[in-house]
Amino acid sequence: MSKIVKCPTCQKQVEWTESSTFRPFCSDRCRLIDLGDWASEKHAIADEPLPSSEEPLYFKNDKSDKF
Ligand SMILES: [Zn+2]
Repeated sequence: MSKIVKCPTCQKQVEWTESSTFRPFCSDRCRLIDLGDWASEKHAIADEPLPSSEEPLYFKNDKSDKF
């Protein structure tokens, strides 16, 4: 039985076996990249959802005396 996991760095599917030295990462490189990301706290920023810009906020034009 083998389990497939996604490499947290590049999302590549990795087989979780005894021989997968770098699991859950696909390679030593991805492992180091992830560790580097944690060190620089990039993960906290990457997990933040981007603010929706579909509806820009307009302030209500309540200063109608200017017209
Ligand atoms: Zn990877």
